[in-house]
Amino acid sequence: MKEKKRGFILIMTAPSGGGKGVLSRHLMETMDGIRFSVSTTTRAKRPGEVEGVHYYFVGKETFAEMIREQAFVEWAEVFGNFYGTSRRALLDHLEAGQDVILDIDWQGARQVRAQMPGDVVQVAIIPPSREALQRRLVLRGQDALEVIEKRMALAEVELSHWEEADYGVINDRLELACGDVEAIVRAERLKRARMAERIKQVVGSF
Ligand code: 5GP
Repeated sequence: MKEKKRGFILIMTAPSGGGKGVLSRHLMETMDGIRFSVSTTTRAKRPGEVEGVHYYFVGKETFAEMIREQAFVEWAEVFGNFYGTSRRALLDHLEAGQDVILDIDWQGARQVRAQMPGDVVQVAIIPPSREALQRRLVLRGQDALEVIEKRMALAEVELSHWEEADYGVINDRLELACGDVEAIVRAERLKRARMAERIKQVVGSF
């Protein structure tokens, strides 16, 4: 019987427009055993969003109650709404041997790391230049010019924390960056500590 190894938590930090969404989707489409953590939020559901797929949508009271019960491994207020990562669901996935991608910023990453230091693999996704990031945000066409300026200021803050990450990927050409994050997941899965149970079984038979 193959022993299940514990999964790890993959946190890719990137400024808005940095390509984090595409890289996460790429990993989930091309690799087995990796999934996205569904957060709980108090914000209103947007058209097309599905309960339990995009988020678990709850009221402020319920969210506050969940904080009191320590149901979140990390939570944050973003643009007036609350977002949190469920501790139980996260642990269940890790114990089932799945790797879990969390879409949280450097502050959330710090909280998770503090509580589960051995479980976090943090990757800083870095745009190739300031101009390239600005161009991507403009081309994406989602935001007004003043919103783009705000995102650029936030980008500076997010990027200033790059030294807290375990790995760095410069997202210049998307297909190369996809290969880089895949390589990180593969290498992390092969860490001796994560392979220990399976290796012991084989070595024990000698
Ligand atoms: P949106 O409302 O556009 O879906 O997400 C807004 C922001 O909240 C994004 O930057 C996203 O990364 C962040 N976010 C989503 N879920 C969580 C979470 O569970 N914890 C934290 N800290 N941030 C989250």
